[in-house]
Amino acid sequence: MARGALFDPDVAMIDPAKLAWGLADAAESLGVRIHENTRALSIDRSGNGIRVKTGYGTIDAAKVLLATSASKSLRRKLRHWIVPVWDYVIMTEPLTSAQLADIGWSGREGLADSGNRFHYFRLTADNRILFGGWDAHYFYGSDTDPRRTQHPEEFALLAEHLLQMFPSLEGIRATHAWGGSIDTCSRFSAFWDLGMNGRVASVAGFTGLGVGASHFGARTALDLLDGKDTERTRLKMVRTKPLPFPPEPLKSIGINITRAAFARADRNEGRRGLWLKGMDALGLGFDS
Ligand SMILES: Cc1cc2nc3c(=O)[nH]c(=O)nc-3n(C[C@H](O)[C@H](O)[C@H](O)COP(=O)(O)OP(=O)(O)OC[C@H]3O[C@@H](n4cnc5c(N)ncnc54)[C@H](O)[C@@H]3O)c2cc1C
Repeated sequence: MARGALFDPDVAMIDPAKLAWGLADAAESLGVRIHENTRALSIDRSGNGIRVKTGYGTIDAAKVLLATSASKSLRRKLRHWIVPVWDYVIMTEPLTSAQLADIGWSGREGLADSGNRFHYFRLTADNRILFGGWDAHYFYGSDTDPRRTQHPEEFALLAEHLLQMFPSLEGIRATHAWGGSIDTCSRFSAFWDLGMNGRVASVAGFTGLGVGASHFGARTALDLLDGKDTERTRLKMVRTKPLPFPPEPLKSIGINITRAAFARADRNEGRRGLWLKGMDALGLGFDS
């Protein structure tokens, strides 16, 4: 139940699918060829360049930019810096005009609550509510199996929370529910790497906030690939990496202790316990 709210007029909302389609159109109009559903299987040095093997053939490139998010990085050493954490979303059937009027969401603002575990919710163009967030799940061994996109218990919990937020919607149906993996790193913001003789740049670690930030991430990675010294490449966050994650089972244990500590802080009016204070001191997590 919300007791108050803050409105930030400087926040813009975008439709990430339209953004991706628009970027693809812009790139193609400049002569870029896009090959969807073509998995890169490996990258290796080849002469003065880089050879990328795919299921359909081999590509020789002078330079490569890897932006593969929570998927296993083709650069093995970077796998210690990213864990895939799963986030889930439900979407209701379209609200009737009466339901819409009842909940009073007339400004169609993007909404979020502000705990360590937070929900985000939006009205779609056809007046459905997209409601997601709260629990973030890590599965042992950095599992990114597609079956993880479905999590009935999490969907039921989100439905319960949706009704706590909007009790008058009792009886509304969820028509869609899905999850996706988030490229989480220990400082919860992007990091960069330049390797293989300066020919392969990587950027990842956006930790669920990458729709806008990945544009900055890509520009910075291109600067690195071009060997440019720019305001971006001089930033401390670009020059330094977060702490890597330990191997299993320590990785799962650490992540699950952190999840429990976030939940405890939320129950305790945001007061951070020893574990979270220790993380803050070490530069780990959202407050790093
Ligand atoms: C449920 C959910 C809700 C989210 N909500 C928000 C939000 O409200 N705001 C926000 O800013 N962010 C949000 N995010 C995070 C946001 O989606 C990411 O931060 C952003 O998409 C990262 O962009 P990217 O280009 O780095 O990676 P992606 O958009 O994930 O693109 C990576 C691409 O690399 C491809 N790929 C991976 N491995 C290979 C390979 N070996 N060969 C070829 N291709 C490969 C993948 O198929 C994918 O297409 C959310 C994420 C989830 C899962």
